[in-house]
Amino acid sequence: MDLSRFPRRRYSEGATPLEFLPNFTRALRGPKVWMKRDDMLGLAPGGNKTRKLEFLVADAMARGADTLITCGAPQSNHCRITLAAAIKEGLHCRFVIEERVPNSYQREASGNNFLFRLLGVEAITVVPGGADMAAAMQEVATALAAQGRKGYIIPGGGSNALGGLGYVACAQELQQQFIAQGVHIDRVVVASGSSGTHGGLLAGFIADDVRIPIIGIGVSRDPADQEPLVHGEAVAVAQLLGLKTSIPREAVVAIGGYWQPQYSLPNPMMVAAVQMLARTEAILLDPVYTGKAMAGLIGLSRHGFFRREEHILFIHTGGTPSLSAYERILLEGL
Ligand SMILES: *Cc1c(COP(=O)(O)O)cnc(C)c1O
Repeated sequence: MDLSRFPRRRYSEGATPLEFLPNFTRALRGPKVWMKRDDMLGLAPGGNKTRKLEFLVADAMARGADTLITCGAPQSNHCRITLAAAIKEGLHCRFVIEERVPNSYQREASGNNFLFRLLGVEAITVVPGGADMAAAMQEVATALAAQGRKGYIIPGGGSNALGGLGYVACAQELQQQFIAQGVHIDRVVVASGSSGTHGGLLAGFIADDVRIPIIGIGVSRDPADQEPLVHGEAVAVAQLLGLKTSIPREAVVAIGGYWQPQYSLPNPMMVAAVQMLARTEAILLDPVYTGKAMAGLIGLSRHGFFRREEHILFIHTGGTPSLSAYERILLEGL
């Protein structure tokens, strides 16, 4: 699949590492676990949103935008990485923050909220949970237009067809690493949220006839809601690519039960997963996405979902700056 026909900015140097986790594998007593270190992508510090923004920001610039407008939760990695990309490109950046948990946005909070201010976000609009985010971002764009400026709206998580191309590119990067490192992977496990990562990776695998099943661990929804969302994203990416093959609905697999009590709120399995990776591999997971996704991998392994001989690839999607907003819980538990 030729991605070079899509305009792209580059925010990372080379490929992110594909690593075997020997100590964690031993402690887990389950399948052999590998990790794709997308927490090492560029943009201060990067994560999966870095890959999506390479295509989204290229589009914004091609359209002559001077301001990126996006949205997210109070500790949004996506907002922070979008702001970092804007700075790199000499653009302005504004956010609409959705308080999915009432009163959870505190300007003075640590983690990503601190970084919003340090990086110098131009303006933040806070709206209540369930608000129409597309409409709220359009209002920001309209206000900018009245001043003769031009906003470019990036949907939550950067998850549209163009953003999904970032994970088609990741699928290609992985294929080259599998060959170069002589690695055979049986299954991929990834956090599944706004769906661009899971859906883009799936479209990328199908585009190149890579038959490795992908398991998405839901971070905000159970499978009945998450799977159609991911399928829709994968179909949109496939259309943009002009794929001849369709995306089979049954290729989309999401697992529930690890995201409760609510998106972004901690649970004991997440705390145990974050501690286990820190203490076996010195790898930092985050409390909102990769901690819960790894809790899913650990839980599935303990329930005998994987065979011992299998090689599982976990995609580390980043997010570590929000660790500092959860310090006490991560040390002392819930
Ligand atoms: C946004 C995010 C995810 C979820 O990815 P989606 O493409 O939104 O499904 C996972 N991990 C981290 C660290 C994120 O910031």
